[in-house]
Amino acid sequence: MIHGCRMQLSFLCLLFDSCQLTPFRDHFNFDRVRILQTMGELVIEEVIEEFEEMTKAAGRVQIETLKKILEQNGQAQYLQTLGLNGRTDPESFKACVPVVTYEDLGPYIQRIVEGDTSPVLTGKPITTISLSSGTTQGKPKFVPFNDELFESTMQIYRTSFAFRNRDFPIRNGKALTFNYSSKQFKTQGGLNAGTATTNLFRNSQFKETMKAILSQSCSPDEVIFGPDFHQSLYCHLLCGLMCCEEVQFVSSTFAHCIVHAFETFEHVWEELCTDIRDGVLSERITAPSIRASISKLLKPKPELADIINKKCSGLSNWYGLIPELFPNAKYIYGIMTGSMEPYLKRLRHYAGWLPLVCADYGSSEGWIAANVNPKLPPESATFAVLPDIGYFEFIPLKETGLYNGLLEPEPIDLSEVKVGEEYEVIITNFAGLYRYRLGDAVKVMGFHNSTPELKFLCRRNLLLNVNIDKNSEKDLMLAVEEAAKCLATQKADVADFTSHVDRLTGPGHYVIFWELSGEADETTLKECCDCLDRSFIDAGYVSSRKVGNIGPLELRIVQKGTFRKILDHYLGLGAAVSQYKTPRCIGPKNKAVLQILCDNVIKSYFSSAFG
Ligand code: AMP
Repeated sequence: MIHGCRMQLSFLCLLFDSCQLTPFRDHFNFDRVRILQTMGELVIEEVIEEFEEMTKAAGRVQIETLKKILEQNGQAQYLQTLGLNGRTDPESFKACVPVVTYEDLGPYIQRIVEGDTSPVLTGKPITTISLSSGTTQGKPKFVPFNDELFESTMQIYRTSFAFRNRDFPIRNGKALTFNYSSKQFKTQGGLNAGTATTNLFRNSQFKETMKAILSQSCSPDEVIFGPDFHQSLYCHLLCGLMCCEEVQFVSSTFAHCIVHAFETFEHVWEELCTDIRDGVLSERITAPSIRASISKLLKPKPELADIINKKCSGLSNWYGLIPELFPNAKYIYGIMTGSMEPYLKRLRHYAGWLPLVCADYGSSEGWIAANVNPKLPPESATFAVLPDIGYFEFIPLKETGLYNGLLEPEPIDLSEVKVGEEYEVIITNFAGLYRYRLGDAVKVMGFHNSTPELKFLCRRNLLLNVNIDKNSEKDLMLAVEEAAKCLATQKADVADFTSHVDRLTGPGHYVIFWELSGEADETTLKECCDCLDRSFIDAGYVSSRKVGNIGPLELRIVQKGTFRKILDHYLGLGAAVSQYKTPRCIGPKNKAVLQILCDNVIKSYFSSAFG
């Protein structure tokens, strides 16, 4: 037994009783699951072994999974209209069912949202809707959520936990998890709707899984479900400190939430100490539900307050804050790849000597892949596709590049992808999405048995474009990373950034907004601006810049706190902090965010990189 780790998992009985198993699962798991049911325990090697067996037969499992999806949902009007006539093989599926975007499925989803209980997209009616964060597209998407999606999420969690715990074993303690649930509401048709994370947190089996994977939150539900994000954050920190010896790891869905939490800590730590010393909750917590639950937990602990005070006072610029506060924490956990990479530097600063472990790859539309190589640093993290949670296809990007060309090549199967090649992910799942373009670009880095290991590259449709130039989120991130090196001599760093294309003046030009931590002098910022302009190496950009078809790049420095205002703006629109990603490109229609940025500009520079 690996690291002697056995965990209580009575909920397995519930899960496996209540969900229908795929043929693959029947074949490989049933006996083991029955044994586990009687033992009431989860054995880590079992989870790993199951994953190993399944990924050895990834191609076959994919075919079985598609069959299962189409059998369950054969009655769906969407599939009936396409003339699938009960066929469940990949060839018929691909011949009848088109590759679609969210917009194509919009009218079907709208009918569900309005309360149509006929089998629109799925055999069984959809009763819950997930709202995607909307921070990448500007407005939230409504996507179907059901028990199968919940179960595949728990499967991903168990899988990555098993691998993680083999490399970084933790004992039964607590997790300081910065989880925030947004409000759930009813659609006009009476369906429950909330962000995908909210739909998870509100599921009664979620807690059972968290217990089984030793990830129980330090904070009571009232904090997670609190009505005010700022108050919940303060109380998450307070709860973490109150059980600081027990905390085994620190996590959040996305890494920026962890950074945000400890940046807040820098401002409120003395107040937190006072609360702990006196056993009286700060006046800043006004939400009755949070006040009542935390007041019950809070007891005067002057010794603990002294220890925290001493630790904080002894730190140099908050380096190593997390392990200092939580001496038994083994790692930091969350999504740290893609649009989260810009926060890594700050996160590493707080994490000190603790490893950063990347969380899995998924979306509100469904999960895709698990991190089964937890020792890899975020910069080289990969995700192994789980072949039994959906049917996955991949559009090769070799010919068209990242951007939606008029003629996209045909998608290929999971077993046909090649190492080193880049693809857009297409998902078919148990919740009514068929050949759905996720919009993410990934690169195949290798195979785990016969399932691909993906590196997340970027959203495919986020691009800076004036004329023939095309720059993706990744290009922007690389340019910012390069230009930020010029700040090395200054006591400053790029705390957050975004971009915009200004077409109102002369030839259009790129505008990059930076919020700095610390100060930098004029000469350095001018140098950063030139460097940004030079760092967009796309041939279309460089040639257009040379002949003046694109104007000089503009770097605008915004006041500290501007990106918090943007976060607050999205929260006001109903976004959940747990799923928030800073939008890296602000389109002209996103007037409110553009206004926040423009109102907060304190300096601006034009590049002279191209003369
Ligand atoms: P949402 O729209 O809120 O459901 O967010 C889903 C999107 O977040 C995905 O389509 C990806 O673009 C991004 N995402 C999810 N997991 C990861 C990951 N592990 N690494 C990078 N980006 C991710």
